[in-house]
Parts: sequence; structure tokens; C-alpha cells
Amino acid sequence: MGKNGTYFLGKLLDRILITRTALYSYFCQLLTNMSTIVHIDCNAFFASCEIATRPQLQNTPVIVANSNEAGGGVILALNDKAKALGLKRGTPLFKIKHLLSQYAIQVCPADHKKYHRISRQIMQIVIQQGIILNFQQYSIDEFFGTLPIDDPSEIRIYIQMVKDAITTGSNIPVSCGCSSTYTLAKIATHYAKHYSGYKGICILTPDKRQQALSRLPVADVWGIGRSLQKKMASLNILTAWDFACLPLSRIQTDFGTQGLHTWQELHGVSSIKIHKNAQQQSIMQSHSFPYMLSSLPDLQKAVCNFAGNCSAKLRAQHSICRSITLFVNTNRHRKDLAQYSNTKKCKLTHYSNDTSLITKTSLELLRQIYRSGYQYKQAGLILSDIISDQGRQLDLFDQNDYAKKNQLMKTIDSINAKFGDDTIHLAVQDNSEKNTNTRLKEEE
Ligand SMILES: [Mg+2]
Repeated sequence: MGKNGTYFLGKLLDRILITRTALYSYFCQLLTNMSTIVHIDCNAFFASCEIATRPQLQNTPVIVANSNEAGGGVILALNDKAKALGLKRGTPLFKIKHLLSQYAIQVCPADHKKYHRISRQIMQIVIQQGIILNFQQYSIDEFFGTLPIDDPSEIRIYIQMVKDAITTGSNIPVSCGCSSTYTLAKIATHYAKHYSGYKGICILTPDKRQQALSRLPVADVWGIGRSLQKKMASLNILTAWDFACLPLSRIQTDFGTQGLHTWQELHGVSSIKIHKNAQQQSIMQSHSFPYMLSSLPDLQKAVCNFAGNCSAKLRAQHSICRSITLFVNTNRHRKDLAQYSNTKKCKLTHYSNDTSLITKTSLELLRQIYRSGYQYKQAGLILSDIISDQGRQLDLFDQNDYAKKNQLMKTIDSINAKFGDDTIHLAVQDNSEKNTNTRLKEEE
């Protein structure tokens, strides 16, 4: 067979494979059940939380930034007004210092405790409303669930009710995407967020799939990681539709199981399972202090706060820990000052999530590593060796009344959830401006 013959035979085989892919897609659609996957994504979540809790910021450009040891920081989130000034996530604050006062941009220090509280609040609102089934948190600002219907006009009515409930209950704007798979629902949310015509709700039905995928860069598809992106770019696969059009026979060999699952999801076949937020394997809190601390009592107050917050996080994910690590650092950027840093780790006799025990142990660690005569800039606490609180092994000689302690901790957590963080805390914890707002002062 000549060169031309080989070429045409190749083309014919390609055509057969593409037809097979189309047939596969068609049958998959028939097999897809009647329920719709719903994806909810909070818009500019950290910035929205700051505005929700400080309504006076409503018409102001708002950015949320972290802080670092040197007193700098980068933009973590920003509202539309800040975006309109050309600001972008990840930009270091020192680069935009001149713009901050020029445009009266409000810089908020990241307050992760607040963001977690509002995220839990959104979960509760939706679960209580009972419209979305199997509602679960995927990340701090993203949620998935299902609706047992597939009529787009009905879906819109129900999702609008959910969206309204979230806005009324938490003041957080959200975008909602609905489709037959997780990946397509996330793509729908992308359109809901970026095209104002959707008014925050996009229902991606099979007839609109080609158009939606053709306009979406393949790199923006959930599950296409960096290595797949590189490979696709080299093969001139630029849009999600280019990828979806590849024949099934090529997918697994060229893009592996991950690529296959994404490809199937783009064809409307559920291939990904969402697991409830896995337990964090370590929980850490640290602070760079706005003023350097030299006295033991000042450091003790900070450490008590870390212990209280980390223990509450541990209980929120229904787990217990065995190891506690504490570290302290002086300011390494201040070469003119004496430098010291130390870390100490210890194992508890029993797994625990009891604030008083974790605080007592952390203070003992601090006593062991504290040296007078130094200016401390940073301290932190890490809880590790974490297991589920269902896995506690009872010891015959253990005198602790766990049931009583658990009940006390549960009561404290529920009061704090209802009336705000730190309504009840240990007397040794310090909740004064100086310690709780350290990051704010770092930014300023
Ligand atoms: Mg978001």
C-alpha cells in the first residue's frame, strides 16, 4: 500500500473510533440516572466573609492577605471592586503598597477561624433547608449535593431557593452549577460565576455541553493536573471539547486512569467519588507577633490560645491526638538581636482532644524551651498522631472520666458555635486585641 493508502486507512480508523466515542457518549446518557449533581462555590470567599461580618466594607475594594515573618504578605482573596483595580491573587502586598491608600483599599488579615465558622454555617443552612440531598463539603468554600430531579426549569427554581437561603442566612454570595457529573457541575459553576446573564445559576444540559466545553480551556477542567496539561498542550488539545473528542481507545493509554475518569465525566458518566472532608492528619496554629515578646507570661497566653483553637478543630473533625509539638523563634531578620529557636515534641499517655489537657501539656513544653533574654517573634503549636475519636482504646487503669470530659467539651463547642468563638474559653487564654489581631497589625 502506498503512502496515500496508509493515510486514508488511518483517517478511516480515526473516523470509526470517533463514531465509537459518540455512541459511547449516547449510551452513557441513557444510563445516567435522573438525579442532578449540584455544585455550590462561594464567590471570593475570604473577602466575602470579611464583608459579611463588616457590612461597612460593602462598597469598598477589599483584599484578604496572609502575613509572614517579615511583616509582608500576599493577596489571598479579593472582591470585585478590588479586581476592577487590576489586583490579582498571589500579588505580594509590598508591590501594591502605593495603590492601597490611593484607592482606599481595605486590607483584611486572613482570619481562618472565621472562614471555617461561616463555612459550617452554610452547611447547616443547606442541610436544614432539606432541598439538596447528600450535601457535603468539598473544601472550605465548595460543596456538592444532589437533586432528585432532571427537569432544568424545576432545577432552577429549587437551586434559586437554596441560593437565596444562603444569601439571607450568611450574607455570602455563591455560584451554583448543575449537571449530570461532578466535573460537568463544576464547569457549570464556572459559567455561573463568569457570565452575569446566568445570575449565579447555570444548568449544563447535554444539548449545551459541546458549546460549554468548546469555550473552556482544558487546563481549567477539574482533574487535569499540571502533567496532563503539558501533555495536552504538546498534542494541541486546547479546549475541554478537544479532549472530550479524543477516541476512548487513546484515553487510558495516553492519559492514565485520572484522564479516563475526567473524560468519562465530560461525557456525562459519573466516574468520580467525592469523599467527605478527610480528617486532617495534623493541626497547626502559629503566629508572627506584631510586637516581639520576651516574657514567659506573654508567650503562655499565645500558647493557650493555640491550644484552645487546635483542640476545638480536633473535636470539630471528631478526632483525638497523641502528639503535641511546640516551637518558638526569634526574628531571624533582625540580625542585631540575639537569635534562638527551639522545638519540643511530646506524646500524651492517652489520645485526647481535651482543651485543658492539651493546654497544660503545651505550657509544660513552653516551660522547657523558653529561654529568657530573647525577643520572640513567632510561636506555634502542632497536634499530630491524629485518629478518629471512635478509635480510643480504653485502659483498665486509666482514671479519666472521658464521657464527662467529652460532654463538657461538647457543651463548650456548642455554646461557642451559637454565640461566637471564644464566648467560653479557659481563663488562661488571652483574647485581647494584642493576641487575637496579631495579623492585622503585621499587615499594617
Ligand atoms: Mg470559591
